[in-house]
This record gives sequence, C-alpha cells and structure tokens, in this order.
Amino acid sequence: MKRSQTKAGPSKRQLRISFQCMFCGKTIEEKQPDPCIVILCSGWDTPGEKPLNQQCYCHAACLRQVAHQSVPLYVLDRQRKD
Ligand SMILES: [Zn+2]
Repeated sequence: MKRSQTKAGPSKRQLRISFQCMFCGKTIEEKQPDPCIVILCSGWDTPGEKPLNQQCYCHAACLRQVAHQSVPLYVLDRQRKD
C-alpha cells in the first residue's frame, strides 16, 4: 500500500454500534434526527477548574419531552426545515 493511500475502516453497520437513550434507556434507531447527542460540560466557568465533558445519546423526541417549552431546540427545529 502506498503511503498516500488510506485503508477504509469498518463502517458503523459492520461494527454494529448501537446507542442507548439517556432518558428512556431504549436503543436508538439511526434515523434522522436520531441519535442526538447531549453534551454535558461542568466547570466551564470556574477559573482554575478544568472542564469535564461527557456526551450522552438520546432520542430527539425524549429530549423534547424533558426540555422545558421555553428552551429553544433550534438544532432540531432547523433539521425539520432543511
Ligand atoms: Zn428515548
């Protein structure tokens, strides 16, 4: 193999990756807009504190159920229009 060539890795389907919803605990079928990722970040505004990050998967529908109606979920709303 030449140096400039890259070997394609296995696809997600070949790896059989599945995602579990952080809210309902069920497996998330990969169908737009799912799976969604909620990113948690703590310590981001505390001087001298190293922020900690975590990504959690969820259904868009479950996120909409738990989010207060005043919270704009513009990413999800935008996907509907695109
Ligand atoms: Zn869910």
